Amino acid sequence: MDRRSCRSRYESWRYYKHFPYVASPHLQRKLRAYEARHRQCAPGTPLYVKSVEQLRSGRSAEGMECNYVVWIPFDGLGNRILSMDIEEYMRLPVTNLLGVGQDIEKSYTRLLDAKVIGPAANATAGVPPYVYLSLGWQLKDLLFFCGEHQLVLAKVNWLLLYSDLYFAPSLYTVAEFQDELRRLFPAKESVHHILSRYLLHPTNPVWSMVTRYYRLYLASASWRIGVQIRMFSFTSISADDMYNQILACSRQEHILPETDADNDEAVATGGHGYGSGSNNSTAIFIASLYGDYYKRLRSRYSDQHAAKGTGARVGVFQRTHEERQATQNLAHNQRALAEIYLLSFSEALLTSGLSTFGYVSSSLAGVRPVILLTAFDHKVPEIPCRRAVSMEPCNLKPPQGMECRGKPMDIEGLARHIGVCEDFKDGVKFFLLDIVA
Ligand code: GDP
Repeated sequence: MDRRSCRSRYESWRYYKHFPYVASPHLQRKLRAYEARHRQCAPGTPLYVKSVEQLRSGRSAEGMECNYVVWIPFDGLGNRILSMDIEEYMRLPVTNLLGVGQDIEKSYTRLLDAKVIGPAANATAGVPPYVYLSLGWQLKDLLFFCGEHQLVLAKVNWLLLYSDLYFAPSLYTVAEFQDELRRLFPAKESVHHILSRYLLHPTNPVWSMVTRYYRLYLASASWRIGVQIRMFSFTSISADDMYNQILACSRQEHILPETDADNDEAVATGGHGYGSGSNNSTAIFIASLYGDYYKRLRSRYSDQHAAKGTGARVGVFQRTHEERQATQNLAHNQRALAEIYLLSFSEALLTSGLSTFGYVSSSLAGVRPVILLTAFDHKVPEIPCRRAVSMEPCNLKPPQGMECRGKPMDIEGLARHIGVCEDFKDGVKFFLLDIVA
């Protein structure tokens, strides 16, 4: 890849503030091997042509040099980024050829039930040329996370992966994968952080938006706080309640500079980086579809008030407020991606619960965010927020209730480093470090 065609790949390290983990030597070797394989198997290569012919033949063949996982994205940008998986991510123009799109009826479990594949299948009919995997919030193919089914799926040349969620923690339920995963990621908390920094590189137009904005508004501050406010229709509360929740959270976790409420002075206090050194200024960068919280926070820290304080200046910035999600609009998605990156250049983060947009920002940043708790049933949560135990995204839909027949998983080992998400009781996430001796 040449430097000019993808500037972010070479420049992003200058903007990040935290570098908590590096890729293990084993992961680095695997990534190099994957790149080599990608060069051999990508569209335009003879091996790709051969694989497409095999696909057309109506059955999978043994001993193919290239096997493919085709990722079928859906939902917003955060969801799309999280559902990609390193070894499996290769974006290929074949979904139209297969004509399956998002057809849940053709998923692995359906094929198993119809005895088209799996232990009970008719051996002479052969293995189908492709299998569709429903691993998103609908999670129809729980059995993907069983070792014995991984053996079956290993024989399929094309896997079509349909997911909008992060599922790396679920891979640990496959007993046969555990040793390899441990070697790839000795520190569990680092999985998405390392993969997202390594794999995601905004295109030049997006990168220009990011760097221009950063230089203009954020670079001169000595401390940057990213605030991401996401409101889902099923958890909406009034802007007043949301704003109060943000302030209550900030007081609880000492995130935003405090103001003297009595005389309304903005005085940066607290044990954080803001207000320290000769250039004691804090920049609060807000990402939200709405302009409301920006306006309120800006007036809270207005210049006039800040001047009355002890000298610490607080600037409040928001790049866009689009009011509406427009997932099919390229320019809208580019702006959203730019904001995910601007958040990731923060020293500290305050994000919204359940939001994959926020999850991606935190793991890119290498920051354990403070997460605003969600107003389920539109009820303002009693505890405004929690500090995340790790920078990992929540695996919002872990597989539950499936019965695997293969090697039993290491439940104790799992319990040591996978726990319930701060923001969702049915979700799980990696936490703590699990260092291999
Ligand atoms: P999630 O829905 O919070 O899990 O995050 P997603 O990224 O999957 O979907 C939300 C989508 O709404 C984004 O991709 C954007 O298109 C839009 N959106 C939500 N919040 C923001 C924001 O703060 N800034 C911008 N520019 N877009 C946003």
